[in-house]
Amino acid sequence: MSQVDGMRLTVLVDDSKNPTRPELTAKHGLAFFIELKAGKDTTNLLMDTGPSADVVLQNAQRLNVDLKKVDSIVLSHGHYDHTGGLLGVLKHIGKKVPVMAHPEALEPKFAARKKRLKKAGIPFQVSELEKSSGILTLKRGPTSVAPRIWVSGEIKRASPFEKVKGFKTVRRGKLVKDYMPDDQALFVVVKGKGLVVVTGCAHAGLINTIKQAQRGAGSSGVHAVVGGFHLAGASAGRTKATIEELQKAGVKAVMPCHCTGKKAIAKFIKAFGEKCKQLRTGDVVTF
Ligand SMILES: [Zn+2]
Ligand SMILES: [Zn+2]
Repeated sequence: MSQVDGMRLTVLVDDSKNPTRPELTAKHGLAFFIELKAGKDTTNLLMDTGPSADVVLQNAQRLNVDLKKVDSIVLSHGHYDHTGGLLGVLKHIGKKVPVMAHPEALEPKFAARKKRLKKAGIPFQVSELEKSSGILTLKRGPTSVAPRIWVSGEIKRASPFEKVKGFKTVRRGKLVKDYMPDDQALFVVVKGKGLVVVTGCAHAGLINTIKQAQRGAGSSGVHAVVGGFHLAGASAGRTKATIEELQKAGVKAVMPCHCTGKKAIAKFIKAFGEKCKQLRTGDVVTF
């Protein structure tokens, strides 16, 4: 993978309220506005759209982020808290814009709670998306969004401690376990820094995701990991193993948010000190 000169990521929506930005709404979900510069080229990506359009549009406006400049929308996976704002955002953008996702992001999705199933998939009909200005681009494999910027596609599951639990889908007319094959991340190599991995929920496993990025970039290290790490409810052993792998990769910045979970974030802060910063709604980070 070749490199970009710089990257700026703005958290448009996250679960946590930002004490320094009280005017912004925090809500369970995620949306990142990501600006990437390479020479004279700028690529603006919207990765996920939060649970509803009102939140992402209002926060974007208050953060002076012009969503009309979005070149591409990337969906990290098909859960409602990442896709709920999509139709409203497309309407606001008002021009044709690619929407990149794994085909299974559009399948029915449920979260298995104690005794019931809770709907967890996209909260609209695929036909509504097809009628919108979004150019639906479904791919299982990696996709180059622009030169030097990759959407991972399906992530290989190799690490023994990262198992997907608690989700269901429908396949061939049967309710079955959902291993979330649609879960994907964004991979960028920033000049002078190295590999930056941006996850939505990392349902595929944070370490599986990083290893995939390393294989693609031909690198054994990782500069930064940003996003939801889905460790709320994870065993202490899994969080510990995740931290050990990140340390082995020599990570310089660990930026958890969304579904990472308070306990896991506390452990990351303990392990990485100043290298770890929890991201909240409205935070801006640059690489
Ligand atoms: Zn999810
Ligand atoms: Zn999520």
